Amino acid sequence: MRTIGLIGGMSWESSAEYYRLINTGVQTRLGGRHNAESLMATVDFDRIEAMQRAGGWEAAAGLLADAAASLERGGAELIALCTNTMHLVADQVAGAVTVPFVHLVDATAASVNAAGIDRVGLLGTRFTMEMGFYAERMAEHGVTVVVPEEAERAMVHEVIYDELTMGTVNPGSREAFRRVMAALAERGCDGIVFGCTEITLLVGRADSPVPVFDSTRIHAERLVELALETGG
Ligand code: GLU
Repeated sequence: MRTIGLIGGMSWESSAEYYRLINTGVQTRLGGRHNAESLMATVDFDRIEAMQRAGGWEAAAGLLADAAASLERGGAELIALCTNTMHLVADQVAGAVTVPFVHLVDATAASVNAAGIDRVGLLGTRFTMEMGFYAERMAEHGVTVVVPEEAERAMVHEVIYDELTMGTVNPGSREAFRRVMAALAERGCDGIVFGCTEITLLVGRADSPVPVFDSTRIHAERLVELALETGG
């Protein structure tokens, strides 16, 4: 089994979900008392969020690259960045290590491809929905991304930062997300990507009229698959 290195803390609520999913994934496959061999480097989200707001992407990239390097030094054989948004600087993080960097958007796109879908709605932070890096990476896999309307994007972003990353799950926000997903389906999306690792804490498959692609679950499953690939 290969040791998984997780860069977490963005937010810790979603990192806990990764931890649960990779351990249950390994236990399901290997049975008994098995769990994943893993390391987590947890950054302080307050610092990261301040850098995001100030457009300090290079500083954030440096911090995350250091976290990746420390995981490799500690024995990690695979590296995962447990947030969609910070994949904006994925190249810098991947470049700081010699072990494989498991890209969240590639894993999510592969899952969309496997479902035979090529047009998806994207829910995430404003950075993820508006800065282009996510849609461009999905396009490399033949997937077209549609984002919610401006007012809906503002609401989704606020719910992520003011509620979900603070540990609050609000039924009113769940209703609002349902409406956004219904609107995206009406605009011709055959699937919805949960392009933020906390969204799974608020909504699920039953809340959407079309299939959902939960980046947290997909990324965690891909890590389990790769960790167990070589056996032993
Ligand atoms: N976890 C979120 C994501 O997947 C948002 C927090 C962050 O900005 O990193 O994008």
